[in-house]
Amino acid sequence: MTTRSTLLWAAGGLAVGTAVAYATTSWLRSRPLDDGRLMKPLDTKPTKPPASVTTDEQCNVSLPAPWVDEDALDRGSRAEMESLHVELADALRGCGAKLRHVTVQELTYLRQANEYAIPPRKLWRRMAKTVVLWEGIREEFGRPIVINSAYRDRTYNRVVGGQDKSQHLQASALDFAAQQSSLTTTLAKIVLTRFRRVGAGEAMGLGIAGFPQASYIHVDTGASYRVFYETRKWLDAR
Ligand SMILES: [Zn+2]
Repeated sequence: MTTRSTLLWAAGGLAVGTAVAYATTSWLRSRPLDDGRLMKPLDTKPTKPPASVTTDEQCNVSLPAPWVDEDALDRGSRAEMESLHVELADALRGCGAKLRHVTVQELTYLRQANEYAIPPRKLWRRMAKTVVLWEGIREEFGRPIVINSAYRDRTYNRVVGGQDKSQHLQASALDFAAQQSSLTTTLAKIVLTRFRRVGAGEAMGLGIAGFPQASYIHVDTGASYRVFYETRKWLDAR
């Protein structure tokens, strides 16, 4: 490549990059906060001794879980990911997830890209841990919940403006809301109670976006006990 064509190529790349960044920024402005704004760790003590949500020795996650710096095992269309989805579902069930109200497709879907990304195998038990916790919440809520974002590969996390060290990259985070959006506040209260009870023991992160009406909820496990978005207001209000 000549110097001139290198320069043209770089300028072209810059223009495209700026356009993408602008589109991403304006899209982000129109949606609730992402999990990029961490607050200080919680100083509140759990009201009960921590209980592990996983049962199988093999499924236990040492806390805090070490950061796995690997990209997705694979990424592609639903049809292309079919056999890996079956394998992932088996692994999650083996670690206590029932998958009654959530599918592995929902847990690997990259909405903006309309593709599926399968996390590296060493993260499957972490995904199971969060799913088991979520299933307890779903059970108590007793109504449909929509998962907006679960596992993200690195590329996709950048596209949606996720944090560099987002737990979504570790397959251990879920963003969700009640299907009937007016019920998300009720759902948030259920999650809060659970957070108080098992949050410290599960190294749980909780982000309730919006106060006093919740718009969506971020939950992760295995990293550290902390809150973000408007969660502190929720805790103070109770
Ligand atoms: Zn999130």
